[in-house]
Amino acid sequence: MAETGTGGAAISAVKVSVIGGGVAGLAAACTLVENGVAVVLHEAAKAAGGRCRSYFDPQLGCRIDNGNHLLLSGNHAAMGFLRRVGSLESLTGPAAPVFPFVDVGSGAHWALRINAGRLPWWVFSQARRVPGTQAADYLVLLKLRKAGLDDLVAPLVGGAGRLYKNLLEPLAIAALNTMPDAASAAPLAAVIAETIERGGKQSIPRFPKVGLSESFIDPAIAWLQARGAEVRLGSRVSDIVPVEKTVLAVPPAVAAELLPGLVVPDEYEAIFNLHFKCRVEPGEAGFWGLVGGIAEWAFAKGDILSVTVSAANRYAEMSNEELVARVWGDLTVAFGLPAAIPEHRVVREKRATFAATPAMLRRRPGTVTAQKNVVLAGDWTDTGLPATIEGAIRSGNAAAEALLRTMR
Ligand SMILES: Cc1cc2nc3c(=O)[nH]c(=O)nc-3n(C[C@H](O)[C@H](O)[C@H](O)COP(=O)(O)OP(=O)(O)OC[C@H]3O[C@@H](n4cnc5c(N)ncnc54)[C@H](O)[C@@H]3O)c2cc1C
Repeated sequence: MAETGTGGAAISAVKVSVIGGGVAGLAAACTLVENGVAVVLHEAAKAAGGRCRSYFDPQLGCRIDNGNHLLLSGNHAAMGFLRRVGSLESLTGPAAPVFPFVDVGSGAHWALRINAGRLPWWVFSQARRVPGTQAADYLVLLKLRKAGLDDLVAPLVGGAGRLYKNLLEPLAIAALNTMPDAASAAPLAAVIAETIERGGKQSIPRFPKVGLSESFIDPAIAWLQARGAEVRLGSRVSDIVPVEKTVLAVPPAVAAELLPGLVVPDEYEAIFNLHFKCRVEPGEAGFWGLVGGIAEWAFAKGDILSVTVSAANRYAEMSNEELVARVWGDLTVAFGLPAAIPEHRVVREKRATFAATPAMLRRRPGTVTAQKNVVLAGDWTDTGLPATIEGAIRSGNAAAEALLRTMR
């Protein structure tokens, strides 16, 4: 399937190095291979996946993800990637756009139920919207449409009372991984425009049935290898060869080392995941938004109840012991669990994402670089989206397309 460029040289004669085996690098590699390009993928770690990976945890005696990852059906690049590598069916989630929530202060449960079409009639139904809110409250979402880079989430939509506290604030923290008084509203607006605003069909929650690696990483590597790509694990690249066509899909600090002078986001936010050995009935969605406590999400995955604390720099000084005690206290209220804390594991991803502040967003570089043969990919490049799988995969596809244009 070699394609021929305008200069007459077969594309397959060109070897491209993809540096970094996270989802951005894997997406770039797949797009290149699909276009007949020979690819060598270098991943520094022993296993690929980067910030989106699964591994065996000896303490819990089972495989866990580094952190819960929630996608939406409207994440078209992510769904396209999974379809390409044959693992779309490895995702699960509710059949409908339903988002169950629990208030860990009162134990009250409710669910947001978005209707399928574009016309948002769900806001007119008490049974579908946040309890205690009125349809008119949701007009605040229109403000997001005009959000510029410098508009911060809290000043823009923070006046929305219960709607803010019980939906917009946790949504912003989860989507941006940055506290709303510091986070730019622009990437949040981009997420909402592509999903909730386009209706329920684009807003169905999706997450891996088994694990992140089983959905996103292992099938992609198998797909690449089956098509002749070389995947080198444990291969840390410390220099870029200027004449070689390269996709640089490493974290921002590494990219800046390999390409001196490159401006990249350099402030980060942590995400903590607490995995408890505890079986909770998954309910209709398999996960819950948590409000009024430390954590934003809880996922029921077989014998594991897994909880995510986003924008976690604010808890950096808190010991694991205190974190576990406080989160477990919230879970006992939410799910009626016993007070005794079960076996657990705390995973602190200190550089989970760049901080989505206006200053950091301005430091996101585009795909092409000053070096003609080197293009960039990663959730931290200028995708317009927050640091997410969707953004990372789009950036990988865009990087591959940019290199392909130079070869045709
Ligand atoms: C705990 C947590 C929860 C998250 N939750 C969500 C969520 O709910 N939804 C969502 O969409 N996103 C979520 N994200 C974000 C998502 O994981 C990232 O956006 C995505 O994985 C980034 O992929 P990437 O390929 O851009 O970067 P990375 O995953 O960082 O990949 C970079 C790769 O480069 C490798 N590398 C580094 N240096 C070198 C070198 N010198 N040579 C070779 N290789 C090198 C690294 O080992 C790594 O594998 C979450 C992230 C975390 C950490």
